[in-house]
Amino acid sequence: MPTAYITHPSSLLHDMGPYHPECPDRLRAIGDRLIAAGLDGYLRHYQAPAATHEQLARVHDLEYIATIEAESPESGLNYLDPDTAMCPDSLSAARHAAGAVILATDLLAKGECRSAFCAVRPPGHHAERRRAMGFCLFNNVAVGAAHALAVHGIERVAIIDFDVHHGNGTEEIFAGDPRVLMVSTFQHPLYPYSGVDPLGPNMVNIPLAAGSGGDAFRDAVTEHWLPALDAHRPQILYISAGFDAHREDPLANLKFVESDYAWVTRELIAVAAKHAKGRIISALEGGYSLSALGRSVAEHVRELMVES
Ligand SMILES: [Zn+2]
Repeated sequence: MPTAYITHPSSLLHDMGPYHPECPDRLRAIGDRLIAAGLDGYLRHYQAPAATHEQLARVHDLEYIATIEAESPESGLNYLDPDTAMCPDSLSAARHAAGAVILATDLLAKGECRSAFCAVRPPGHHAERRRAMGFCLFNNVAVGAAHALAVHGIERVAIIDFDVHHGNGTEEIFAGDPRVLMVSTFQHPLYPYSGVDPLGPNMVNIPLAAGSGGDAFRDAVTEHWLPALDAHRPQILYISAGFDAHREDPLANLKFVESDYAWVTRELIAVAAKHAKGRIISALEGGYSLSALGRSVAEHVRELMVES
């Protein structure tokens, strides 16, 4: 079964200014690298729909959604926090970024694809139920996971977050929900300075010290993530796929390399094969070295395309 590659033109139009690291060129770097690696032609390409109000409201307050809609500017940039701005195209990009994970969920639930990579912006894992922050407006992965639980008869999902920053938004949305297991690694201390004290028993948060490399990451995955995932028996796996723990990334100080991302993808595919009919959905979060991002995503997607 094919791997879906889901994106939308609006993802390239969301632009927070010429010096912002979360920039449209990130998606161009990924697309170019997938072509250069010979992978693009083997992916099944889809255009993301816009997430509906009802779909967003499963994880965000109605008042918050209305605020984001009201903050959308007619021109220029409107800053929601010092790092997070909306341009006139951002609202559409954010709706389609969440919609990409909805579509991925539908494709996998219907058996049309076995895995999916959502190449979308803005990212989502810092967005809380009622707060935009850290470059994120809507929590894309949370919207997708909630859709699986609400619509497809899925009883258990897992969210795996290997972005270098703690996924505070996803944790805030799902803490205490026994249907959702979240496992994560993140550099600590680092923005957003949360995660060390988990908000619920369904959170497996593993902080890593600055300078940690792939060995520390693989130990965390093997010792903490995999036993928890095995016990939870998720029926779909969602990856908050940030690649800013790469050693070349300018925003943080971990030292992962491409082979670490390939390794963890293989480990997660094995979990998906055992419990989830192989179903695994990955959505882009961070990753700010354009070259390292392209190379890392290519290795990640290459593994997603392999039948386990
Ligand atoms: Zn990040």
